[in-house]
Amino acid sequence: MFLPQEVIRQKREGQVLSEQDIQAFIRGVTDESVSEGQVGALAMAIYFNGMTMPERIAMTTAMRDSGTVLNWQSEGLHGPVVDKHSTGGVGDMVSLMLGPMLAACGCYVPMISGRGLGHTGGTLDKLDSIPGYQTSISEELLRTAVRECGVAIVGQTSTLAPADKRIYAIRDVTATVESIDMITASILAKKLAEGLDALVMDVKVGSGAFMPTYEKSRELAESIAAVATGAGVKTTVLLTDMNQCLANSAGNGVEVREAVRFLKGEEQNPRLYEVTVALGADLLVSASMAVDLDEARRKLEACLADGRAAEIFGRMVHLLGGPADFVERYDFYLPKADIIRPVTAEQTGFIGRIDTRTLGLSVVQLGGGRRAPGEAIDYSVGLTHVAGLGKTIAAGEPLAMIHAASEAQWQQAAAMVVHAMEITEQRPVVEPCVYERVTGC
Ligand code: URA
Repeated sequence: MFLPQEVIRQKREGQVLSEQDIQAFIRGVTDESVSEGQVGALAMAIYFNGMTMPERIAMTTAMRDSGTVLNWQSEGLHGPVVDKHSTGGVGDMVSLMLGPMLAACGCYVPMISGRGLGHTGGTLDKLDSIPGYQTSISEELLRTAVRECGVAIVGQTSTLAPADKRIYAIRDVTATVESIDMITASILAKKLAEGLDALVMDVKVGSGAFMPTYEKSRELAESIAAVATGAGVKTTVLLTDMNQCLANSAGNGVEVREAVRFLKGEEQNPRLYEVTVALGADLLVSASMAVDLDEARRKLEACLADGRAAEIFGRMVHLLGGPADFVERYDFYLPKADIIRPVTAEQTGFIGRIDTRTLGLSVVQLGGGRRAPGEAIDYSVGLTHVAGLGKTIAAGEPLAMIHAASEAQWQQAAAMVVHAMEITEQRPVVEPCVYERVTGC
């Protein structure tokens, strides 16, 4: 007989839970026969005593199976179903380019994305800056878009991993979010419910990362690679740098603009380019669409150079409700802030250190992110022309261009940007953008 309190007691005593007990507990979470208090108590027991790898795999697959698991077999697709996920960052619009690039290379990408969290931006919020674009769609339209465009970047439906939705909300108010076991299960339950053949994860490291230290980011990377591979999806994790804004811009509309310009070859920040291509190359190799990383990179570079990825992005936008000529006329369609003015350096030197979290929070302060769940956001605000680490700068030269809705908001954001960017006399060591590659086997 399954008794939730027995499962909680066992984990409290540091015992290993059986697969059957984990499955029964997650079934109880989904049908609400397990109470909120019991979920909170098990989460705290896991937080303190951890889980073995088989327990993590059992928890992840039980949460994946708590709702619809997409199956693409009946769609007659001619390539592998793949996705990429990131732990979140500032100026990280990789998904917007990589989804269409992977589709151009013959993959199918049902990319279920999230909204901004804390100081980090969210892919769905960025896409919402495109007039008409629908991020909340039926499973039927998701299938059509993936079949016809090769990619659909949309939000989570209520039927996808519902156990995670309930557990995450309880973890959020019981101080149990910071558990590698539960973060792994939460991220992967949603991704694995997409019915993938291969996955690449981007775990961020540095001053704008979700995890507090390199060691913790690495621990999460190893856990995700092992659990996803154990659950049957070939997965690679890259540890990438978040000690500065990844792109030239941070915000919603401004990031969509940079993403379209990237796809069209009009503006390609080298660090953003490197992270995008590195993640894509790993995924193409995992999905057997390239024999090695060199061939994979060549394929990705070719679909950018010949415009196929830009064209696919345009088709996806139109199929999901946006303008048919968005890629050609992005400046006409994207919202513009009333005040667009540079914030300047107060002294001469090098950009020596960037508190990337504060940069992200300056976008939130401008109204480009949420302070409370469900809050409306301003798609026009944000930062562009953001100076990178190691740049030489003279007093009076721009650190970034601030796009604001009011003078007061511009002033507050400007103070935050100046505070976030430390100017040093010595040139700093600039870290590579990809630190390490972790595989599940
Ligand atoms: N993102 C998720 O989806 N789940 C977590 O637990 C943490 C970050």
